[in-house]
Amino acid sequence: MHIRPKTTPIYQTSVFTFDGLSDLEEYFGTPGNGYMYSRFGNPNAEELANEVARLEGGEAGVATSSGMSAILAAVLCYCKAGDHLLCAEDIYGGSSVLLAQELTRLGIEVSFVPLSGLYALKPYCKENTRMLLAETLSNPLLQVLDIKRAAQACKEQGLKLVVDNTFATPVLTKPLLLGADLVLHSVTKYLSGHSDVTAGVIVAGQSDGARLQQIMVRLGLNLSPFESWLAARGLKTLLLRVRQHSANGLAVAHFLKGHSKVKDIYYPGLEEHQHHNLAKEQGQGMFGGMLSFRIEDNEATVERFMQALQHIPFAPSLAGVATSVSHPLRTSHRFLSPEGQAALSISMGLIRLSVGIEEPLEIINDLAQALEAV
Ligand code: PLP
Repeated sequence: MHIRPKTTPIYQTSVFTFDGLSDLEEYFGTPGNGYMYSRFGNPNAEELANEVARLEGGEAGVATSSGMSAILAAVLCYCKAGDHLLCAEDIYGGSSVLLAQELTRLGIEVSFVPLSGLYALKPYCKENTRMLLAETLSNPLLQVLDIKRAAQACKEQGLKLVVDNTFATPVLTKPLLLGADLVLHSVTKYLSGHSDVTAGVIVAGQSDGARLQQIMVRLGLNLSPFESWLAARGLKTLLLRVRQHSANGLAVAHFLKGHSKVKDIYYPGLEEHQHHNLAKEQGQGMFGGMLSFRIEDNEATVERFMQALQHIPFAPSLAGVATSVSHPLRTSHRFLSPEGQAALSISMGLIRLSVGIEEPLEIINDLAQALEAV
Protein backbone atom coordinates (compact mmCIF):
# COMPACT_ATOMS: atom_id res chain seq x y z
CA MET A 1 0.00 0.00 0.00
CA HIS A 2 1.24 3.49 -0.88
CA ILE A 3 1.86 5.97 1.90
CA ARG A 4 -0.26 8.98 0.93
CA PRO A 5 -0.05 11.75 3.52
CA LYS A 6 -2.80 14.38 3.31
CA THR A 7 -0.33 17.19 3.95
CA THR A 8 3.09 17.46 2.36
CA PRO A 9 5.79 16.07 4.69
CA ILE A 10 8.81 18.21 5.47
CA TYR A 11 11.62 17.31 3.08
CA GLN A 12 14.33 18.27 5.54
CA THR A 13 17.21 17.44 3.26
CA SER A 14 19.84 19.58 1.57
CA VAL A 15 20.31 17.16 -1.33
CA PHE A 16 18.53 14.39 -3.26
CA THR A 17 20.07 11.16 -4.58
CA PHE A 18 20.29 9.75 -8.11
CA ASP A 19 20.67 6.21 -9.44
CA GLY A 20 23.37 7.29 -11.87
CA LEU A 21 24.36 9.79 -14.55
CA SER A 22 21.36 9.13 -16.81
CA ASP A 23 19.04 9.85 -13.89
CA LEU A 24 20.86 13.14 -13.31
CA GLU A 25 20.66 14.03 -17.02
CA GLU A 26 16.90 13.45 -16.90
CA TYR A 27 16.66 15.95 -14.02
CA PHE A 28 18.53 18.63 -16.01
CA GLY A 29 16.72 17.75 -19.23
CA THR A 30 13.20 18.19 -17.84
CA PRO A 31 13.06 21.35 -15.71
CA GLY A 32 10.39 21.25 -13.02
CA ASN A 33 10.63 17.49 -12.83
CA GLY A 34 12.41 16.27 -9.71
CA TYR A 35 14.90 17.70 -7.27
CA MET A 36 18.68 17.71 -6.96
CA TYR A 37 19.86 20.17 -4.32
CA SER A 38 17.56 22.12 -1.97
CA ARG A 39 19.05 25.50 -2.89
CA PHE A 40 17.89 24.81 -6.45
CA GLY A 41 14.48 23.56 -5.42
CA ASN A 42 12.71 21.67 -2.65
CA PRO A 43 9.14 20.28 -2.57
CA ASN A 44 8.19 22.44 0.42
CA ALA A 45 9.49 25.69 -1.08
CA GLU A 46 7.76 24.85 -4.36
CA GLU A 47 4.47 24.07 -2.65
CA LEU A 48 4.53 27.50 -1.00
CA ALA A 49 5.58 29.33 -4.18
CA ASN A 50 3.02 27.54 -6.35
CA GLU A 51 0.19 28.20 -3.95
CA VAL A 52 0.99 31.93 -3.73
CA ALA A 53 1.30 32.05 -7.53
CA ARG A 54 -2.17 30.49 -7.77
CA LEU A 55 -3.65 32.96 -5.28
CA GLU A 56 -2.04 35.91 -7.09
CA GLY A 57 -3.16 34.68 -10.52
CA GLY A 58 0.46 34.44 -11.74
CA GLU A 59 2.27 31.80 -13.78
CA ALA A 60 5.40 31.22 -11.71
CA GLY A 61 6.40 31.73 -8.09
CA VAL A 62 9.72 31.57 -6.26
CA ALA A 63 10.04 31.32 -2.48
CA THR A 64 12.89 33.27 -0.88
CA SER A 65 14.55 33.53 2.51
CA SER A 66 12.85 36.86 3.43
CA GLY A 67 10.82 39.73 2.04
CA MET A 68 14.08 41.62 1.59
CA SER A 69 15.57 38.90 -0.60
CA ALA A 70 12.34 38.89 -2.62
CA ILE A 71 12.79 42.63 -3.26
CA LEU A 72 16.46 42.12 -4.15
CA ALA A 73 15.58 39.35 -6.61
CA ALA A 74 12.83 41.49 -8.16
CA VAL A 75 15.20 44.41 -8.72
CA LEU A 76 17.93 42.18 -10.16
CA CYS A 77 15.39 40.61 -12.50
CA TYR A 78 14.89 43.95 -14.25
CA CYS A 79 17.99 46.04 -13.46
CA LYS A 80 21.75 45.75 -13.87
CA ALA A 81 24.62 48.13 -13.11
CA GLY A 82 24.07 51.40 -14.96
CA ASP A 83 20.25 51.20 -14.74
CA HIS A 84 17.91 53.51 -12.87
CA LEU A 85 14.73 52.62 -11.03
CA LEU A 86 11.86 54.46 -9.41
CA CYS A 87 10.50 53.75 -5.97
CA ALA A 88 7.38 55.12 -4.27
CA GLU A 89 8.37 57.51 -1.49
CA ASP A 90 5.89 55.91 0.92
CA ILE A 91 7.39 52.50 1.37
CA TYR A 92 8.80 50.18 4.05
CA GLY A 93 12.02 51.74 5.38
CA GLY A 94 14.02 48.56 4.74
CA SER A 95 13.09 48.69 1.05
CA SER A 96 14.24 52.28 0.64
CA VAL A 97 17.48 51.58 2.53
CA LEU A 98 18.18 48.52 0.34
CA LEU A 99 17.74 50.60 -2.80
CA ALA A 100 19.38 53.85 -1.69
CA GLN A 101 22.21 52.53 0.43
CA GLU A 102 23.08 49.10 -1.00
CA LEU A 103 22.02 48.81 -4.64
CA THR A 104 23.47 52.23 -5.45
CA ARG A 105 26.84 50.74 -4.44
CA LEU A 106 26.32 48.15 -7.18
CA GLY A 107 25.64 50.86 -9.75
CA ILE A 108 21.82 50.78 -9.72
CA GLU A 109 20.51 54.29 -9.28
CA VAL A 110 17.21 55.10 -7.52
CA SER A 111 14.81 58.07 -7.45
CA PHE A 112 11.92 58.29 -5.00
CA VAL A 113 8.55 59.44 -6.32
CA PRO A 114 5.74 60.92 -4.20
CA LEU A 115 2.33 59.30 -4.48
CA SER A 116 1.09 62.26 -6.54
CA GLY A 117 3.74 61.48 -9.19
CA LEU A 118 3.10 57.75 -9.56
CA TYR A 119 0.53 58.13 -12.33
CA ALA A 120 2.56 60.51 -14.54
CA LEU A 121 6.11 59.20 -14.42
CA LYS A 122 7.73 61.04 -17.33
CA PRO A 123 9.39 63.78 -15.20
CA TYR A 124 11.14 61.09 -13.11
CA CYS A 125 12.30 58.90 -15.98
CA LYS A 126 15.66 58.78 -17.72
CA GLU A 127 16.77 56.77 -20.71
CA ASN A 128 17.99 53.98 -18.42
CA THR A 129 14.93 53.80 -16.11
CA ARG A 130 13.68 50.22 -15.93
CA MET A 131 11.07 49.76 -13.22
CA LEU A 132 8.88 51.16 -10.47
CA LEU A 133 8.56 49.59 -7.01
CA ALA A 134 5.48 50.48 -4.94
CA GLU A 135 3.28 48.95 -2.22
CA THR A 136 -0.45 48.25 -2.64
CA LEU A 137 -1.06 49.66 0.85
CA SER A 138 1.93 51.63 2.05
CA ASN A 139 3.86 51.05 5.26
CA PRO A 140 3.13 52.77 7.65
CA LEU A 141 0.58 55.37 6.48
CA LEU A 142 -1.73 53.14 4.46
CA GLN A 143 -1.69 55.14 1.24
CA VAL A 144 -3.43 53.16 -1.48
CA LEU A 145 -1.79 52.61 -4.85
CA ASP A 146 -4.12 52.68 -7.84
CA ILE A 147 -2.47 49.71 -9.52
CA LYS A 148 -4.28 50.01 -12.87
CA ARG A 149 -3.24 53.64 -13.21
CA ALA A 150 0.33 52.95 -12.09
CA ALA A 151 0.54 50.05 -14.57
CA GLN A 152 -0.67 52.34 -17.35
CA ALA A 153 1.86 55.02 -16.37
CA CYS A 154 4.65 52.41 -16.36
CA LYS A 155 3.59 51.09 -19.76
CA GLU A 156 3.72 54.59 -21.24
CA GLN A 157 7.36 54.91 -20.12
CA GLY A 158 8.36 51.32 -20.91
CA LEU A 159 8.86 50.42 -17.25
CA LYS A 160 8.13 47.21 -15.35
CA LEU A 161 5.78 47.56 -12.38
CA VAL A 162 6.79 45.66 -9.24
CA VAL A 163 4.19 45.64 -6.46
CA ASP A 164 4.87 44.75 -2.83
CA ASN A 165 1.50 43.26 -1.85
CA THR A 166 2.47 42.42 1.76
CA PHE A 167 -0.13 44.59 3.53
CA ALA A 168 -3.02 43.85 1.17
CA THR A 169 -2.53 40.12 0.43
CA PRO A 170 -4.13 38.53 -2.66
CA VAL A 171 -7.37 38.22 -0.68
CA LEU A 172 -7.83 41.98 -1.08
CA THR A 173 -5.90 42.70 -4.27
CA LYS A 174 -4.21 40.74 -7.05
CA PRO A 175 -1.80 43.22 -8.66
CA LEU A 176 -0.87 40.98 -11.60
CA LEU A 177 -4.49 41.00 -12.74
CA LEU A 178 -4.46 44.80 -12.63
CA GLY A 179 -1.41 45.16 -14.85
CA ALA A 180 1.64 44.69 -12.57
CA ASP A 181 4.54 42.67 -14.00
CA LEU A 182 5.70 41.17 -10.73
CA VAL A 183 4.24 40.89 -7.24
CA LEU A 184 6.17 40.13 -4.08
CA HIS A 185 5.52 39.55 -0.40
CA SER A 186 7.18 39.48 2.92
CA VAL A 187 5.67 36.04 3.68
CA THR A 188 6.79 36.78 7.24
CA LYS A 189 3.53 38.77 7.52
CA TYR A 190 -0.01 37.78 6.49
CA LEU A 191 0.79 34.88 4.17
CA SER A 192 2.34 32.83 6.97
CA GLY A 193 0.35 34.75 9.58
CA HIS A 194 1.56 33.39 12.92
CA SER A 195 4.72 35.43 13.63
CA ASP A 196 6.90 32.32 13.46
CA VAL A 197 8.43 32.47 9.97
CA THR A 198 10.79 34.77 8.06
CA ALA A 199 10.22 34.29 4.32
CA GLY A 200 9.49 35.97 1.01
CA VAL A 201 7.91 35.12 -2.32
CA ILE A 202 7.91 36.55 -5.83
CA VAL A 203 5.28 35.82 -8.48
CA ALA A 204 5.48 36.73 -12.17
CA GLY A 205 4.87 35.44 -15.68
CA GLN A 206 6.67 32.37 -17.04
CA SER A 207 9.80 34.02 -18.46
CA ASP A 208 10.41 36.45 -15.57
CA GLY A 209 9.70 33.52 -13.25
CA ALA A 210 12.50 31.51 -14.87
CA ARG A 211 14.93 34.42 -14.46
CA LEU A 212 13.84 34.89 -10.81
CA GLN A 213 14.46 31.22 -10.17
CA GLN A 214 17.97 31.59 -11.60
CA ILE A 215 18.66 34.65 -9.41
CA MET A 216 17.36 32.83 -6.34
CA VAL A 217 19.63 29.83 -7.01
CA ARG A 218 22.74 31.80 -7.95
CA LEU A 219 22.54 34.24 -5.06
CA GLY A 220 21.45 31.58 -2.58
CA LEU A 221 18.22 33.37 -1.63
CA ASN A 222 16.34 30.09 -1.09
CA LEU A 223 13.91 29.33 1.73
CA SER A 224 14.50 26.36 4.05
CA PRO A 225 12.16 23.34 3.94
CA PHE A 226 10.83 23.87 7.47
CA GLU A 227 10.15 27.59 7.00
CA SER A 228 8.45 26.77 3.69
CA TRP A 229 6.32 24.12 5.39
CA LEU A 230 5.25 26.47 8.18
CA ALA A 231 4.40 29.22 5.69
CA ALA A 232 2.44 26.83 3.45
CA ARG A 233 0.52 25.69 6.54
CA GLY A 234 -0.29 29.28 7.50
CA LEU A 235 -1.40 30.06 3.98
CA LYS A 236 -4.23 27.53 4.24
CA THR A 237 -6.16 29.87 6.56
CA LEU A 238 -5.27 33.13 4.78
CA LEU A 239 -8.80 33.84 3.55
CA LEU A 240 -10.40 33.34 6.97
CA ARG A 241 -7.72 35.31 8.76
CA VAL A 242 -7.81 38.28 6.38
CA ARG A 243 -11.60 38.49 6.66
CA GLN A 244 -11.34 38.65 10.44
CA HIS A 245 -8.33 41.03 10.39
CA SER A 246 -10.38 43.31 8.14
CA ALA A 247 -13.53 43.21 10.25
CA ASN A 248 -11.50 43.88 13.40
CA GLY A 249 -9.44 46.60 11.67
CA LEU A 250 -12.61 48.48 10.83
CA ALA A 251 -14.04 48.13 14.35
CA VAL A 252 -10.80 49.32 15.96
CA ALA A 253 -10.46 52.22 13.49
CA HIS A 254 -13.97 53.41 14.38
CA PHE A 255 -13.10 53.26 18.08
CA LEU A 256 -9.82 55.19 17.64
CA LYS A 257 -11.39 57.78 15.36
CA GLY A 258 -13.57 59.13 18.11
CA HIS A 259 -10.94 59.12 20.84
CA SER A 260 -9.78 62.42 22.33
CA LYS A 261 -6.15 61.25 22.67
CA VAL A 262 -5.92 60.25 18.99
CA LYS A 263 -4.84 63.12 16.73
CA ASP A 264 -4.77 61.37 13.34
CA ILE A 265 -5.82 57.99 12.13
CA TYR A 266 -4.79 56.27 8.90
CA TYR A 267 -7.08 53.43 7.83
CA PRO A 268 -8.44 53.17 4.28
CA GLY A 269 -11.66 51.61 5.60
CA LEU A 270 -12.73 54.94 7.10
CA GLU A 271 -14.83 57.00 4.73
CA GLU A 272 -12.76 60.10 5.39
CA HIS A 273 -9.54 58.37 4.26
CA GLN A 274 -8.36 60.11 1.07
CA HIS A 275 -8.28 56.82 -0.87
CA HIS A 276 -11.34 55.14 0.65
CA ASN A 277 -13.23 54.57 -2.62
CA LEU A 278 -10.18 53.22 -4.40
CA ALA A 279 -9.36 50.95 -1.43
CA LYS A 280 -12.92 49.66 -1.39
CA GLU A 281 -12.92 48.85 -5.08
CA GLN A 282 -9.41 47.42 -5.18
CA GLY A 283 -9.83 45.49 -1.92
CA GLN A 284 -13.16 43.68 -2.53
CA GLY A 285 -14.74 45.83 0.17
CA MET A 286 -12.12 44.80 2.75
CA PHE A 287 -9.32 46.97 4.08
CA GLY A 288 -7.02 44.61 5.99
CA GLY A 289 -5.77 44.70 9.54
CA MET A 290 -3.10 47.41 9.39
CA LEU A 291 -3.68 50.92 10.65
CA SER A 292 -1.62 53.75 12.08
CA PHE A 293 -2.62 56.50 14.46
CA ARG A 294 -0.95 59.46 16.09
CA ILE A 295 -0.94 60.34 19.75
CA GLU A 296 0.98 63.25 21.32
CA ASP A 297 4.45 63.65 19.74
CA ASN A 298 6.18 63.09 23.02
CA GLU A 299 8.48 60.20 23.90
CA ALA A 300 7.27 59.90 27.51
CA THR A 301 3.64 59.73 26.32
CA VAL A 302 4.45 56.99 23.82
CA GLU A 303 6.40 55.10 26.46
CA ARG A 304 3.47 55.34 28.91
CA PHE A 305 1.03 54.14 26.24
CA MET A 306 3.15 51.11 25.36
CA GLN A 307 3.79 50.19 28.98
CA ALA A 308 0.09 50.52 29.82
CA LEU A 309 -1.00 47.99 27.19
CA GLN A 310 -1.85 44.77 29.03
CA HIS A 311 -2.35 42.28 26.22
CA ILE A 312 -1.03 43.95 23.10
CA PRO A 313 2.76 43.64 22.86
CA PHE A 314 5.14 46.13 21.27
CA ALA A 315 6.58 43.90 18.54
CA PRO A 316 8.30 45.43 15.51
CA SER A 317 6.59 43.25 12.93
CA LEU A 318 3.00 42.85 11.80
CA ALA A 319 0.22 40.65 10.49
CA GLY A 320 0.24 37.90 13.10
CA VAL A 321 -2.99 36.43 14.46
CA ALA A 322 -2.38 38.31 17.74
CA THR A 323 -2.63 42.12 17.77
CA SER A 324 0.63 44.05 18.23
CA VAL A 325 1.84 47.64 18.07
CA SER A 326 4.96 49.04 16.53
CA HIS A 327 6.69 52.40 16.36
CA PRO A 328 7.78 53.31 12.80
CA LEU A 329 10.14 56.12 13.85
CA ARG A 330 12.19 53.82 16.05
CA THR A 331 11.81 50.56 14.08
CA SER A 332 10.79 50.17 10.41
CA HIS A 333 11.81 53.71 9.39
CA ARG A 334 14.66 54.18 11.90
CA PHE A 335 17.41 54.29 9.27
CA LEU A 336 15.86 57.06 7.16
CA SER A 337 17.32 60.56 7.55
CA PRO A 338 15.43 62.88 9.96
CA GLU A 339 14.36 64.92 6.90
CA GLY A 340 13.09 61.76 5.19
CA GLN A 341 11.15 60.77 8.30
CA ALA A 342 9.64 64.25 8.59
CA ALA A 343 8.69 64.29 4.88
CA LEU A 344 6.70 61.08 5.41
CA SER A 345 5.04 62.42 8.62
CA ILE A 346 6.71 59.68 10.63
CA SER A 347 6.89 61.37 14.00
CA MET A 348 7.39 60.24 17.63
CA GLY A 349 3.64 59.95 18.26
CA LEU A 350 2.92 57.68 15.29
CA ILE A 351 1.86 54.19 16.40
CA ARG A 352 1.37 51.37 13.90
CA LEU A 353 -1.23 48.85 14.94
CA SER A 354 -1.43 45.36 13.49
CA VAL A 355 -4.97 44.29 14.36
CA GLY A 356 -5.22 40.56 15.03
CA ILE A 357 -8.10 38.11 14.87
CA GLU A 358 -9.15 38.15 18.54
CA GLU A 359 -12.62 39.21 19.68
CA PRO A 360 -12.60 42.90 18.65
CA LEU A 361 -13.72 44.07 22.10
CA GLU A 362 -10.62 42.55 23.70
CA ILE A 363 -8.44 44.71 21.45
CA ILE A 364 -10.54 47.83 21.92
CA ASN A 365 -10.65 47.47 25.72
CA ASP A 366 -6.87 47.19 25.96
CA LEU A 367 -6.35 50.22 23.71
CA ALA A 368 -8.98 52.18 25.65
CA GLN A 369 -7.35 51.66 29.03
CA ALA A 370 -3.85 52.39 27.64
CA LEU A 371 -5.04 55.62 26.03
CA GLU A 372 -6.68 56.60 29.33
CA ALA A 373 -3.30 56.15 31.01
CA VAL A 374 -1.49 58.73 28.86
N1 PLP B 1 7.82 44.70 2.56
C1 PLP B 1 7.07 45.20 3.55
C2 PLP B 1 5.83 45.98 3.20
C3 PLP B 1 7.44 45.02 4.89
O1 PLP B 1 6.67 45.55 5.87
C4 PLP B 1 8.61 44.28 5.18
C5 PLP B 1 9.04 44.07 6.58
O2 PLP B 1 8.49 44.59 7.50
C6 PLP B 1 9.37 43.77 4.12
C7 PLP B 1 8.94 43.98 2.83
C8 PLP B 1 10.62 42.97 4.38
O3 PLP B 1 10.27 41.68 4.73
P1 PLP B 1 11.15 40.69 5.66
O4 PLP B 1 11.26 41.30 7.00
O5 PLP B 1 10.41 39.42 5.60
O6 PLP B 1 12.49 40.60 4.99
